[in-house]
Amino acid sequence: MTFKVKALQKTSPEAPFQVTEIERRDPREDDVVIDIKAAGICHSDIHTIRNEWGQAHFPLTVGHEIAGVVSAVGDAVTKFKVGDRVGVGCLVNSCGECEQCRNHQEQDCLNRPVGTYDSLDVDGTITQGGYSQKVVVNERFVCTIPDGLDFDHAAPLLCAGITTYAPIARWNIKEGDKVAIVGLGGLGHMGVQIAAAKGADVTVLSRSLKKAEAAAELGAHRTLATSEEGFFKAHRGEFDFILSTISASYDLQDYLRLLKPHGVMAVVGLPPEKMSLGLGSLIGGGKVLTGSNIGGIKETQEMLDFCASKGIGAVIEKIGVHDVDAAYDRVVAGDVKFRFVIDTSTFEE
Ligand code: NDP
Ligand code: ZN
Repeated sequence: MTFKVKALQKTSPEAPFQVTEIERRDPREDDVVIDIKAAGICHSDIHTIRNEWGQAHFPLTVGHEIAGVVSAVGDAVTKFKVGDRVGVGCLVNSCGECEQCRNHQEQDCLNRPVGTYDSLDVDGTITQGGYSQKVVVNERFVCTIPDGLDFDHAAPLLCAGITTYAPIARWNIKEGDKVAIVGLGGLGHMGVQIAAAKGADVTVLSRSLKKAEAAAELGAHRTLATSEEGFFKAHRGEFDFILSTISASYDLQDYLRLLKPHGVMAVVGLPPEKMSLGLGSLIGGGKVLTGSNIGGIKETQEMLDFCASKGIGAVIEKIGVHDVDAAYDRVVAGDVKFRFVIDTSTFEE
């Protein structure tokens, strides 16, 4: 059986968002029902619902940065009880049995993980995301929001936080490492805070210096403008680690030049266009170019606990359900400090 909740939905890539009712399944024995308090806007929501990554399934509700309170639990649920403060990110299920799932890397499930939206669910429906009043999720994919974090500032951690935390952890970024975070948007501003908390010497590479003051407040030692004449030549060989969050296509070779020999560039930004690379830019200096895909659930909980212990949260602009179309245009223009979060109580206005 199902129940109805209010949600923001688009019926096509071009249509505006509208408030409507969607169906959620009654909780199965291992599901929790979450009353959503805050939902972050990730650039992936925009790529998806504007059909930039391929054919999305419409009508569609997006949103995979979800924070809220447990309002009901299935009979077999052991991790959570009604009233718990919880978060859900980009995943709501996976096979649980393959090598990757057993290794706590559910994002790389060999039998395809179930994404929080626009993904084929275990019950044959297409998943609908967090721009909504409630969501029903298998308890294995729900994290605890530590007491020190409020819902608004915690929601973006469920995607932007884990997506930057995982490669910083994977490449063991530590005190004194020279780290560049490229693109100061939702992901980038989390990357700066997390790398700085690890003791790294953090430089923000932004298109201009407009965000330099804010970057310093987040813990960056400096901001450099990549649009400056001769920039990539002037700063060649400076960094141990580069994390690129750029959402549009760019010249990878330019950024690889900025690495020290044996340095690592991890890309998390996923531009819709294909990008090419001359292999000489990897071979010279023995450089590493790698990607990173969100992170597993265990690591997501570790990231939430790390952020709470360090006093790190997202820097947000709070908006109502009727402001989302305009917010999307501002995200695409790089004009958000640094994450929009939808106040879901405005569904009732
Ligand atoms: P934002 O739009 O908030 O930030 C992206 C930043 O990229 C902008 O702030 C801007 O930084 C920079 N940028 C944008 N366009 C250009 C351009 N043409 N040239 C150079 N820099 C540019 O997006 P998010 O942080 O939400 O997401 C970033 C990307 O990461 C998206 O592609 C998203 O889909 C992807 N993503 C990937 C995940 C993964 O698991 N790998 C998970 C989540 C998101 P500035 O203004 O400082 O120059
Ligand atoms: Zn995301």
